[in-house]
Amino acid sequence: MNVDQTINQYYEQILQRNAGEPEFHQAVAEVLESLKYVLQKDTHYANDGLIERMCEPERQIIFRVPWIDDAGNVQVNRGFRVQFNSVLGPYKGGLRFHPSVNLGIIKFLGFEQIFKNSLTGLPIGGGKGGSDFDPKGKSDREIMRFCQSFMTELHRHIGDKVDVPAGDIGVGGREIGYLFGQYRRMNNRHESGVLTGKGLQWGGSLVRTEATGYGTVYFTQEMMTATDQRLDGARVIVSGSGNVAIYAMEKAQELGATVVAFSDSSGYVFCPDGVDIELLKDVKEKRRERVSTYAKEIDGAKFVEGGNIWEVEADVALPCATQNELDGESAKLLADNGVKFVAEGANMPCTPEAVAVFRKRKVHFAPGKAANAGGVATSALEMQQNASRDSWSFEYTDKRLKGIMRNIFKSCRNTAEEYDVAGDYVTGANIAGFRKVADAMLAQGVI
Ligand code: NDP
Repeated sequence: MNVDQTINQYYEQILQRNAGEPEFHQAVAEVLESLKYVLQKDTHYANDGLIERMCEPERQIIFRVPWIDDAGNVQVNRGFRVQFNSVLGPYKGGLRFHPSVNLGIIKFLGFEQIFKNSLTGLPIGGGKGGSDFDPKGKSDREIMRFCQSFMTELHRHIGDKVDVPAGDIGVGGREIGYLFGQYRRMNNRHESGVLTGKGLQWGGSLVRTEATGYGTVYFTQEMMTATDQRLDGARVIVSGSGNVAIYAMEKAQELGATVVAFSDSSGYVFCPDGVDIELLKDVKEKRRERVSTYAKEIDGAKFVEGGNIWEVEADVALPCATQNELDGESAKLLADNGVKFVAEGANMPCTPEAVAVFRKRKVHFAPGKAANAGGVATSALEMQQNASRDSWSFEYTDKRLKGIMRNIFKSCRNTAEEYDVAGDYVTGANIAGFRKVADAMLAQGVI
């Protein structure tokens, strides 16, 4: 078999069948690139239309979400749920509310989620959803009405054994609360396992809020330890200032690092002496204000409006905001400024050009599907607690999270070594995630 030719044929098909979805093409291209190594050794993975099936969602749901704003006007948004692959367990993946959301973005996220969920070692399939609704500037009541309308359609497609959504950009505890309330009302059942990221009083899990950020830092720590480096004393840049970013900063500082910059879409804050996490939580989580407010309220921090956060000098960079936020030029800046470790807290924040720069400049790089898998892993732990009507302590759940992140790291590292690309965590993650899903799909027949 000519592997390059086979992979190119798969990719051409993807381009033709999914026109106008560049993020989806990008996510598939990265996985296909890694599969070259697999197909050379194990040609049976080219059988039974396996790879074509894996790139085609099992189901894609698109729906109208009408709602009434505070001024009494009717607004119409579009809702999505892409149920990509359920071979390992119920579809699992977050909901994103952001004006940039379209089918291609949800498909890229759902596709990534299949391999990420496989890497966790837990029984969860891959899915993703969301809406082009923009929560920024909306009142609580508007958010509630939107969530209720969104769930009025979504409820018929989900369930604790079917599909279990969670949060993502623009969807946090408040939104999950409104979504859960409407699901409960429409189904007349308190089915805790239908959503994760719930409040602690009604089925939520300790550590779920912190899990993605903490997990990204645990993975970074493993990567550093493997090369005899330490997070303690390191300078860290974290892009974004949402759920993932805040808890990545909190854990990095707890472990002795100094977070020297963070951002939102309006610019970045430079804070060479570190971040006051409690103030940042107050500004972002309670008051829902911008990072510029943080800089105004504390000495020693400067807001750089419209600035590029990747120009800040550091040892470690954790992109935790959004896809394609770190391009080739920014990657060169990071390498020139001495960054030696990059771990993706966000999904696909580094462009292919950036990843190529990291490879060339020997920057250790952890892809999102491995580094940020702690969020979905802890969601699966929330599902376990719901199923057994139990709730675990913070310490125990955090220990489980840490163990899962260590296993994911080992699995990426060992798989990369097995395929003679030691230290290439992208290839290691893609192949390790792929093999489990592929074996299960082959075992379950052509469906
Ligand atoms: P939030 O909505 O809580 O925060 C998103 C943050 O990113 C905000 O600070 C936002 O700023 C910032 N941001 C968005 N776009 C840009 C941009 N173009 N430039 C700079 N900053 C930007 O989302 P999450 O923290 O939940 O998610 C962040 C990323 O992590 C996403 O890629 C998500 O898919 C991924 N992820 C999340 C998980 C979770 O458990 N929540 C799990 C795994 C991955 P602003 O307010 O200005 O828009």
